[in-house]
Order: sequence, then C-alpha cells, then structure tokens
Amino acid sequence: MSAAELERFFADTSGNPIQHAFSRRGGHMPGASGEPVAADAHQSIWRQVQDQPRSGPTVMYLHVPFCANHCLFCGFYRNKWTDDASAPYTDALLQELEMEATSPAAQSAPINAVYFGGGTPTALHAQDLKRLVARIRELYPLASDCEITVEGRIYHFDNDKIEACLDAGANRLSTGTQSFDTRVRRRQGRKVSGEEARRFFEGLRDRNRAAIICDLILGLPDQDEEIWQADLKTVVDLGLDGVDLYTLAVFPGAPLFKAIEKGKISPAAPLPHQGLMYETGLTFLQRQGWRQLSSSHWASGTRERNLYNTLIKSGAQCLAFGAGAGGNLNGYSYSVQSELAHYYDMVKKGEKPLASLARNGPLTPVLNGLAAGIETMRVDLAGLERHPAVPEGVLAYLAPLLDNWRAADLITGNTVIRLTTAGRFWHQTLLTHLKAAVAEYCGPHPEP
Ligand code: SF4
Repeated sequence: MSAAELERFFADTSGNPIQHAFSRRGGHMPGASGEPVAADAHQSIWRQVQDQPRSGPTVMYLHVPFCANHCLFCGFYRNKWTDDASAPYTDALLQELEMEATSPAAQSAPINAVYFGGGTPTALHAQDLKRLVARIRELYPLASDCEITVEGRIYHFDNDKIEACLDAGANRLSTGTQSFDTRVRRRQGRKVSGEEARRFFEGLRDRNRAAIICDLILGLPDQDEEIWQADLKTVVDLGLDGVDLYTLAVFPGAPLFKAIEKGKISPAAPLPHQGLMYETGLTFLQRQGWRQLSSSHWASGTRERNLYNTLIKSGAQCLAFGAGAGGNLNGYSYSVQSELAHYYDMVKKGEKPLASLARNGPLTPVLNGLAAGIETMRVDLAGLERHPAVPEGVLAYLAPLLDNWRAADLITGNTVIRLTTAGRFWHQTLLTHLKAAVAEYCGPHPEP
C-alpha cells in the first residue's frame, strides 16, 4: 500500500470535527485474517481446541435469541418469544454448557466475566434464569470477582425474575432503555412508558444488590435536544451505576429504514447532529463527575467496571453458548448455529452446534490490540512496531494519517495517542481505518 492510498482514511480538517470529520461512520472490518475450517472438520478441530488449556483474560457469553417484538431500530431480532420456549431453550443451553464444562479449555483458568445477551435473556422464566446462572457458577471456574451481567428489557423483567437473577449470583443488570420519553419509546416499539421505566430503575437501584446499567440511544426519531437532555438528567437523577450512549445507526432494509422511507416516522438525526448530541452527553456526564470508561460508556462510582465489554473488545478468550452466539478460544473464532431447529438438533446429538470456525491469523492479536486501545480511548502504537507480525517502519508509514487526524482534532499525542471528544464520537471509524491501514501495510501473511 502506498502512502497516497492512506489518504482515503483522512478526515476533513475544515469544519467542526465532531460533525464533519467523516461523511459516514466506518463499519466493522470483515474477516480480519482468519482461515476458515471446512464444515466437515468442525467437530474434530473443536475437540482439539477443547483439549488445550486456556490462558489469559476470559469471558463467557450466553445468547438468548428471543424478543417479545421487533423494536424498529434493532438489527438483532431473530425469533418471536413464546412462553413455551423458555424451558426447552434453557435445557438445551444447559446441555451445551455441560458438554464442555470438564474440558481443559473450560477448567484451566479463571473466567473473569459472564454475559447473558440477546435478544432478551429476561424473556426466560424466573426459574430458568435462576438455574442457568446457578449452574454456570457450579460448572465453570469463575473468578472470585467475576462480573455476571444479565441484559434485560423492562417489559417482562418482573420482580420474580430480578430476584431469581440476583439470588443465583448475577451482580450486574443492564437494561436497554433507549429513551425515557414515552412518545419516542412507543414509536420504536417499546411497550412500557417512560414513567414505568423510571419506576423500574428505582426498584433495581433500591435493592442495592448489583450494578445497574442503562443504555440510551441518541439520534432516535422525534428525540429532540430537550428530550435528549431530559434522558441524560434522568439517568443521573436515578443514581444508576453506569450508562451507555449509543449512536443510532439506520441500516438499509431494517424496519426503521423502511418506516422512515414510507413516511410513517420522522427521520433519524443526521450524523452531524448526532455528533453534537454525543458532545452534549459527554459534557453533561463529565460535569456530574461520571468517569468515561470507553467511548460509549460511563460509570458514576466504583461499583461499575464494564469488564465484559472491555475484555471482549480487546480480543479476550470467549466461551460462547446459545443459538447465534459468537466466541473466540485458543486461537480460533467461531459462531454457534442461529437457526433454532438446527441448534436443538446438534445439541441433542452431543455436538458443539457450530455454524463457523476459523483459525485466527498472525495479525489477529495486533488488530485486537488496536481495538482495545481505541475502546479505552488510548492507543500505544509502540507495541505495533515491536510485534513480529508487523514489518519494520509501520509508524513512519502511519505518520501522515496520524498527522491528519491530529490536525482534525480527533487525536492528541504521538506514540501514545488519545482520542479527543470528536475522536470518541468517531471511534468506530478511526478503528476501521487504522486496522485497514495496518493490515494493508503488513500485506498477505502465510498462515502459521
Ligand atoms: S432491542 Fe432488544 S428486545 Fe428489541 S428487537 Fe432488539 S434485541 Fe429484541
């Protein structure tokens, strides 16, 4: 790759960077440097992966792919929830967990964080949530300070389910709230009102038994500046432990895209406006004394660590279970079958229900290191130069790009770069560009 080709990653330096540094957001970089394993070798390679001891930071992810309805803005909807799905899905998940629990990969080192995500984990019945959390603690070597998160939706996360999660050992409850404004919520398919959402969080907070986290989205249709500021103030007034501020992405073909296209709903805030909303949020939380832990996450005190999210984004080992989950173990990345019938069928046969398996390439740790740095808003580029998979001279090669980003007020520093407020808003774009530039500089690599 020539230095001139780097220019396609340059930011516009002529305007307010948080609004105009780039014309669109960078997506995830596909297929970093993995080598796919043929489907007929999945089970034999998986057994080898399981037979190797595991080391390093590790998380566990469990996916529950059901939702009461498809929220307009969401790209994660897979299966309509029905009450009779709870017990069979939990049974299958437990069987999948038990199949691997005695392997060297499972038992050889502590697990630092467990995350129930979805979909909607709290769609499961109280007794099923309880037996899942409790059984994981019995079967797997969780670290004594292991963070155990259950991601929930206010709708059907009732007192019995909350108590079941907490009694079984969950110590962090994260709830996708999006906005506390009833009209904005209802337009997106959220069933409970803003007032009910507030009361729900008060109930969680007053139990004083876990870190309580709320997700907000900025840029939703009809969410004007006044509503956004009220959302931020509500989070602070509620005394929650953490908040995520996510920017709305409207994907072509998604329900929200179609609804806007048909004129059924107001357009989402354009990117330059989202940038200003992000700045409002960052400034407000900073003034309230909240600590920014990542580009999109803040904590009010010491109870919130955001451990799972930090570790997973830095390429930690991840033991993954449940239809549609994705993991990373002993040098292999994998995904679990998302089609439910197929998932149940493979688990019943005693097989790991893999949909894909790929051996990580030599650049994977390098790219993971960049992701970890961008996530925590501080990238130490000296590590790049020292890595055996990276040819000499990479920092000199990247210099024009970094000069441009400094001129655009997206980063500060030289060997150790830090993201400015604008850089934090554009963090995904910076990461995509930086990974692409480094990967192209390193060129195609022979697999080990
Ligand atoms: S936001 Fe949550 S509940 Fe709504 S469709 Fe997406 S995953 Fe399901």
